Amino acid sequence: MREAGERTWTRRAFLEKAMLAAPVIAATPATALAGRPAATRRVPTDFAFLSRLIHYRPRAAWAPEPPLLRRLNRADPYYRVTVHHQGSAIYHHRSELDAAIAIQNVQQGHMNRRFGDIGYHLVIDTMGRAWEARSLRFTGAHVARHNSGNIGIMLLGNFEEQRPTRQQLECLNIVVQGVVQAFAMKPDQVYGHIDLGQTLCPGVHLYRYVEHLRNLRRPG
Ligand SMILES: [Zn+2]
Repeated sequence: MREAGERTWTRRAFLEKAMLAAPVIAATPATALAGRPAATRRVPTDFAFLSRLIHYRPRAAWAPEPPLLRRLNRADPYYRVTVHHQGSAIYHHRSELDAAIAIQNVQQGHMNRRFGDIGYHLVIDTMGRAWEARSLRFTGAHVARHNSGNIGIMLLGNFEEQRPTRQQLECLNIVVQGVVQAFAMKPDQVYGHIDLGQTLCPGVHLYRYVEHLRNLRRPG
């Protein structure tokens, strides 16, 4: 854990990681999307465009409560992404079932607060599986007053108290870089919750990676 925590993530290292994480693929998100004119680039409505690079679980995989559509708003174009941690108890579970239950509980907590659905768009578990949460068709509910155009990604765990796993960080790297490309975001539009609100989220042990992701620049 310590080595992973202190690793310096270069773009080359990211690409190598991406290839290691998904050895069957021949292209990273960057190369997959590069060269297409912006006018013909389709804006994704879910994260399935990353499913050859990450272990992607569609929303149905965690058996959510259906959203309360009257409490949701159609999404504006996405131009930024914000990273969160779950931030409650330390979380070390590895199984898909535990992750699914954890995400169900987050949804329940949010809906008890009169949200229309879980507030985040994507959840990454300790094994680096990425679970679709609130549909990207709807504006998230994860940063007070800063939800418009903002994709919310939450990592299971409390990163004030524990370190994210290597698999979580690899997945986060791929997702954030893929999203920045697919939505033609400026690379500096990558935030931790703490950048936009009064909170410790996403925790000191995760925030350092968020800062790194924000500072990555596309080649050329
Ligand atoms: Zn947060």
